[in-house]
Amino acid sequence: MAGFSWERWERWEGVGSGGSGVKGTRGAGVASTVSSGVLRDRITTILWDVGGTLVDWATDAEDSLVCACRDCGLEPGLLEPEVVRQARREYELDEPGWRTAEDERAGHQRHAAALLRGKDVRAEDVARFGDRLLDYFDAYSPVSGIPELLWELSRAGVRQGVVSNWPPSLAAFLGHHHLAGHFGTIVCSADLGVLKPDPAPFLCALDKLESTPNQTVFIGNDPLLDIAPARALGMQTIHFDPRREHVERQATNIIDLRRLLQSFT
Ligand SMILES: [Mg+2]
Repeated sequence: MAGFSWERWERWEGVGSGGSGVKGTRGAGVASTVSSGVLRDRITTILWDVGGTLVDWATDAEDSLVCACRDCGLEPGLLEPEVVRQARREYELDEPGWRTAEDERAGHQRHAAALLRGKDVRAEDVARFGDRLLDYFDAYSPVSGIPELLWELSRAGVRQGVVSNWPPSLAAFLGHHHLAGHFGTIVCSADLGVLKPDPAPFLCALDKLESTPNQTVFIGNDPLLDIAPARALGMQTIHFDPRREHVERQATNIIDLRRLLQSFT
């Protein structure tokens, strides 16, 4: 794996100019750098998308449901494909409305009931299945190389935050995967009640980090939800697409992502 350039990060943050050894001090100045002939403010901040960027599925959705059934003593054959698809459509309409942990729990209960609709299953078993669906954290794992990169960026004093369309459990989810500590702010759609590409969650994260768009790089996997709105706000962007879903992507692995990040120094 390509090594990460500490020196360049440190130069990026102007570390050492005061000899304090304190990296990335806020308000350290508005110095600009000349890059590719364009004068621009120094990049001090990275905002990240979550799903498909920082983390990806560890198991496919179908396997996760089968596993959840078995954990609850339910026969996976109860899950009929067409019923599962309909339940998923209902879930996708329901989820953006979850604003609190209790909303999220109730939503998973509704999802469990929809998955088992028409089946002879006791109410307490449906409820247990719903609680098991709420326990989704291990259905994901960090994208290869991301934990190390976040750690290095934190060490270099780069301000980092998250802007994600995600239910209220996002902070706990990132904590479960030992990622949360790197972020000065974790903004999820549930916080504001609006989804990306609305600019509100991006602006909220910038405000919390006391950063401006021209100091910021946004890294995300979705061209419409991440890249377009971040650019419209004046941020630099990196289209990181480890799922390889979009032909216009700029990077699919951590080596190329690191190379692109270093191009901003
Ligand atoms: Mg995403």
